Amino acid sequence: MTDAATATETRDLFSKFDPLINEREALLATGVRDPYAIVMDQVLSPTRAIIKGKETILLGTYNYMGMTFDPDVVAAGKKALDEFGAGTTGSRVLNGTYQGHKEVEDALKEFYGTSGAMVFSTGYQANLGIISTLAGKGDYVVLDADSHASIYDGCAMGNAEIVRFRHNSVEDLDKRLGRLPADALKLVVLEGVYSMLGDVAPLPEMVAAIRKHPNCMILCDEAHGMGFFGPNGRGAYEEQGVEGEIDFVVGTFSKSVGTVGGFCVSNHPKFEILRLVCRPYVFTASLPPSVVATAATSIRKLMHAGEKRAHLWKNSQRLHKGLSDLGFKLGSATPQSAIIAVILTDQMQAVAMWQTLLELGLYVNMARPPATPAGTFLLRCSLCAEHSDDQVTQIIGMFEAAGKATGAID
Ligand code: PMP
Repeated sequence: MTDAATATETRDLFSKFDPLINEREALLATGVRDPYAIVMDQVLSPTRAIIKGKETILLGTYNYMGMTFDPDVVAAGKKALDEFGAGTTGSRVLNGTYQGHKEVEDALKEFYGTSGAMVFSTGYQANLGIISTLAGKGDYVVLDADSHASIYDGCAMGNAEIVRFRHNSVEDLDKRLGRLPADALKLVVLEGVYSMLGDVAPLPEMVAAIRKHPNCMILCDEAHGMGFFGPNGRGAYEEQGVEGEIDFVVGTFSKSVGTVGGFCVSNHPKFEILRLVCRPYVFTASLPPSVVATAATSIRKLMHAGEKRAHLWKNSQRLHKGLSDLGFKLGSATPQSAIIAVILTDQMQAVAMWQTLLELGLYVNMARPPATPAGTFLLRCSLCAEHSDDQVTQIIGMFEAAGKATGAID
């Protein structure tokens, strides 16, 4: 049999992944550990875990406010587990709403000061559901080119026309809106904080540009802003004073809230109808009682977390300064959020650096194309309000050692 015949015979629906499989195998053959197969054998606190027998500082969790081990949050989850069982075994639309779902939606309405709140099983599903249900065939979704995958997938599912504007460019947003038919209905999707580089959107300027054009509603994803930005921790849109202008806020429980789940809040008078027409809400099981109980308790505590927010800002500023003083290229020129991204252009160097940090006892996220902008490799650090001053000093020291060992810095 010829090689060509073998190749033809072995061609199947997986063949399109061959380039990625080959790239991954070549990388692992160099002896590096698989960045996507790390196991946390024990988690000791929001900032410490045991990985392969080594105590490791966690700097890639999105656990911004450190709520995962908050004693009140954990106790609420245990109580709900005892009183309501392990799961709901179905959709709220069919199996009914548990008291805990109502409680977490009430907590969200209070936290955001809105009349409506709808909880989804993940933040991914919240974007998928809300975007696909609001914007259908013939409508337009106008979005930032660096938008999260769940936003793109929501557009694809709804079948709306997608119009992308250059990342954080007010001018490009304005220009592209100006080219759309005036009578068409448009949903503009923004993110308060962009998770790859940790930069923040210029929301007042964007809102002003959007309001020049007719028939636009605005959705802001505050996955990475909730808990940390604004006097009430609502997100970057609160901090930047555009609360009255945002029609829908989407968020997640998997970051500052410290558990899993997603949501959308709104003041729109017809918001409740979405519960009957939004497929990623209707056709999936609702969150377990223990999860909604932990989320509700956490959200209520985040309303009074000013001191934690202040400490997190201090951590972010210290790490940003420490890493830029060492000569690393960072995702934003100034610390803008709790995400500090170290930009590397070479995959081998990024993986070597990531592995060296892990061996030193530091876990960060490695992100690669296509998730990252402009083909970059990122070592993404997400800080936690529970990182101590001493841990931040240790982290900077580990970056210095790993950067020098791998040639990433001089
Ligand atoms: N939106 C953004 C901007 C995100 O970064 C993420 C998750 N990283 C999500 C939505 C989805 O959230 P979840 O993890 O709850 O699915």
